[in-house]
Amino acid sequence: MNLPLTLHQLNHATPDEALTLLDGLYEHSPWIMQAALHQRPFTSLAQLKHALTEVVSQASRAQQIGLIRAHPELAGKAMRSQRLTAESSQEQNQAGLTHCSAQELAQLQQLNADYHTKFGWPFILAVRGPRGSGLSRAEIIATLARRLQGHPDFEWAECLRQIHRIAELRLNDKFGLTPTLGNDVWDWQKALSQHSEAPDQLTVTYLTEAHRACAQHIQQVMQACGFDNVQMDAVGNVVGRYETSSYSHSMDKGYSSNSSKTLLTGSHYDTVRNGGPYDGRLGIFVPMACVRELHRTGRRLPFAIEVVAFAEEEGQRFNATFLGSGALVGDFNPDWLNQRDADGVTMRTAMQQAGLCGRQATEAVLANIASLKRDPTQYLGFVEVHIEQGPVLNTLNLPLGVVSSINASARYTGVVTGQASHAGTTPMNQRADAACAVAEFMLACERRAAQDGNSVATVGQLQVPNGSINVVPGCCQFSLDLRAPSNAQRDALQADLLAALTSICTRRRVAYQITESMRASAAPSNAALQQRWEAAVAALGLPLHRLPSGAGHDAMKLHQVMPQAMLFVRGQNAGISHNPLESSTSDDMQLAVQAFCQLLEELAGAVLAD
Ligand SMILES: [Zn+2]
Repeated sequence: MNLPLTLHQLNHATPDEALTLLDGLYEHSPWIMQAALHQRPFTSLAQLKHALTEVVSQASRAQQIGLIRAHPELAGKAMRSQRLTAESSQEQNQAGLTHCSAQELAQLQQLNADYHTKFGWPFILAVRGPRGSGLSRAEIIATLARRLQGHPDFEWAECLRQIHRIAELRLNDKFGLTPTLGNDVWDWQKALSQHSEAPDQLTVTYLTEAHRACAQHIQQVMQACGFDNVQMDAVGNVVGRYETSSYSHSMDKGYSSNSSKTLLTGSHYDTVRNGGPYDGRLGIFVPMACVRELHRTGRRLPFAIEVVAFAEEEGQRFNATFLGSGALVGDFNPDWLNQRDADGVTMRTAMQQAGLCGRQATEAVLANIASLKRDPTQYLGFVEVHIEQGPVLNTLNLPLGVVSSINASARYTGVVTGQASHAGTTPMNQRADAACAVAEFMLACERRAAQDGNSVATVGQLQVPNGSINVVPGCCQFSLDLRAPSNAQRDALQADLLAALTSICTRRRVAYQITESMRASAAPSNAALQQRWEAAVAALGLPLHRLPSGAGHDAMKLHQVMPQAMLFVRGQNAGISHNPLESSTSDDMQLAVQAFCQLLEELAGAVLAD
């Protein structure tokens, strides 16, 4: 067996030797490696991987389709007549495709044929999957069936992304690299997702049995990682602390425990109904992997690390979102205790059943929750790792992105009133069609938000109450959700859209009412903390990409009292989230762990220099 390749070897080889070293990475397409090798020396595998994706992104359509067509069909003729490249043969074998039942083979052949007819190229999937250990045949067939429904432009791009994933795994093999930290984080999340309140899907809402099982599970993993103290707090957050170096070295290093601060991090472990396994949880396990590394090597930092697994963020069971992180900033509404879930159980009872408060009087329960409020002067700030939940990093072939701001938002409910009239007898120029007015407004929203580049406007609900097939809509109800990276940008968007609504309704001779139902300020990242994330990403050899967060996160709550900054990790499947298709690779998780460890090093350096 060949010794694993090293970057030193690759960087110092002649161009021809280097090309031979990377042989077989991209199926029958040495031009990709050839072009990327011009960028030697590489400081990391992540940098090399990204350089390869860039070559393909910049190639012509003809070169791209050539690359796609260079790939064999899964379980196709080439496999059955053993004409695959060594790499393909091994991958298809590992995925068990060589052992298909007759029925599976027939199914695959039909799907492959349909796919080829629709798109004109073979279906491509990295069959070793997001963990690198192989998808099951059922998963492969389900993915093929799903992607057959896609748009050709999307499939084209997705095939190229899958090809990059195949190359990533082949490159790992050549370099003898296993993303062990990323694999652990991946496996922890997989294990945690076994706890669910609904069969065959992931649903974990506040203080249900599955939720309590998750809390138990997280506590056990934290303990195994070597945290000094692991506790469940009064709202169900799991809090792990890894103490500072002053613990053991305060004398010789010259700082004491009362002067040293704490870095706060974490994310939520509750989920939406039928959600994905990484939303929130990734931000709990990534820092845990870093603490485990510190503990393994007996290292302490000049600050403590507090990892909080927040009990509630999604607002699914009760009408209270960010309950977990809210408690840390003193934002717990006492009325919430009397709120009832769909089964009529109050939050107070749910807390009692979960063993959070025993038979204490309400005042005592509230006092305990109030005591969770953190003193910001004791903290360096809050950092959060989160799966992106959007397509941006996936599209750019970037594993990590640094969040510049959590978007400001505003929500409205509106109603347009026109005149319901006979669909057959009312001439087009004598109508007051409420739905057409809203439709025109929706297009105005789409145009205006797109102008900003990074604003979004969505009409997610649209109804014609009591509408009929033969009646011109007299009433149309709609919702509007606006988000932008700054309050000023959101306000400008809002002003323009409300003006557009007025002018559309005036011209169309219909009336409207619009009511604001929610408004949240932007949470721009703290410049210094954001820069630490940027330095951490750069240290991995990855290009820097900053992006705003369109979704709300626990960091938004902590933003009220302390500096915060977030790191996003690429999601597979075009970044889909709040969906069981949510996915991320263990290679990307490995990079997230490395970036987090790097951030800790940077902070340690800064604290010591202070
Ligand atoms: Zn989340």
